[in-house]
Amino acid sequence: MSHSADSTAPFDVVVVGGGPAGLTAATYLGRFLRSCLVLDAGDSRAKWIPESNNCPGFPHGVAGVELLRRMKAQAMEFGARFESAEVGKIERDDDGFTLSDGARSWRARCVILATGLADKLPEAPWVEDAVACGALRLCSICDAYEASDACIGVYGPAADIGAHGLFLRAYSKRVCLLPNDGDGADAMRDAIAAGVRVLPAGGTLGFDGERCRYTCQDGETIVFDSIYPFLGSTTSAGIAAAAGAALSDGGEIIVDGKQMTAVPGLFAIGDVVSGLNQISVAVGQAAIAATRVHAMLPFVPREAMQAS
Ligand SMILES: Cc1cc2nc3c(=O)[nH]c(=O)nc-3n(C[C@H](O)[C@H](O)[C@H](O)COP(=O)(O)OP(=O)(O)OC[C@H]3O[C@@H](n4cnc5c(N)ncnc54)[C@H](O)[C@@H]3O)c2cc1C
Repeated sequence: MSHSADSTAPFDVVVVGGGPAGLTAATYLGRFLRSCLVLDAGDSRAKWIPESNNCPGFPHGVAGVELLRRMKAQAMEFGARFESAEVGKIERDDDGFTLSDGARSWRARCVILATGLADKLPEAPWVEDAVACGALRLCSICDAYEASDACIGVYGPAADIGAHGLFLRAYSKRVCLLPNDGDGADAMRDAIAAGVRVLPAGGTLGFDGERCRYTCQDGETIVFDSIYPFLGSTTSAGIAAAAGAALSDGGEIIVDGKQMTAVPGLFAIGDVVSGLNQISVAVGQAAIAATRVHAMLPFVPREAMQAS
């Protein structure tokens, strides 16, 4: 490791976020013999995945919690340290970065932000149970395959749900759009032309313990095998913006081809950056960023056999 035993010495890298992106970066950095601390608020989106079937290497699927457990064990195997923290501020100076959570602070030569995003969900006490059993699904790219031939609802602003409904129409004949507002009828036209039905706007969602239902204002109730809500998301990208990074109009952190933001030494990876919010993308971006960070840090020749 290139940092001294002095506890005030900076880490080579602090990774903010312990989801698939941050954990992969930590594994790479450990194997590059760089000191790495992962600061994590502990709410990875991957925890919500009942079973992922497009994650490379798991032909029979893997639960998100199990995937995170394995990825964390792998990062620890190569020396990554972990602390529970919600980072609120990142500041750059001539020697690197200071990160703080309001009460504590940490020093790093480089920072990789891997803070993901948080889905906005229907406000109901049953949401977690409905996601766990697949009645509510949050990512059609991830699991539309599992919803093949099912009765599918797509819930959210009319201007947004048409494209999602059209995508899902390739998987099932029984797809309905459930607008939560009265705007954007034009945006649903292609889906309607492909045979997707539109239910009246302003209905309410419910859950019976196994399946979700949509009750229209006139009382008609349709039960769905799965409903996909598309209600937007929030991110911690503002922390990077406050440190000087540029954001897109959509609030994603803008990075170069090696995942570096406009601030030298500050990188961003995973859902907080990408338009395609997938584990494979997060993992690939982590490999790219970690390798670039390693190349930026001072070269440390190996002196002698070192105790493990
Ligand atoms: C229900 C569901 C099913 C899905 N299924 C699949 C699938 O089958 N295949 C697939 O590829 N993808 C799937 N996804 C998407 C996948 O979960 C994400 O793409 C992936 O988790 C992104 O990884 P990440 O590391 O960028 O972010 P995350 O996994 O969200 O991790 C970010 C971490 O950063 C922490 N954090 C946030 N802010 C701070 C802060 N300020 N300080 C410290 N820590 C912070 C969070 O608490 C979290 O632990 C699914 C998502 C959901 C919700």
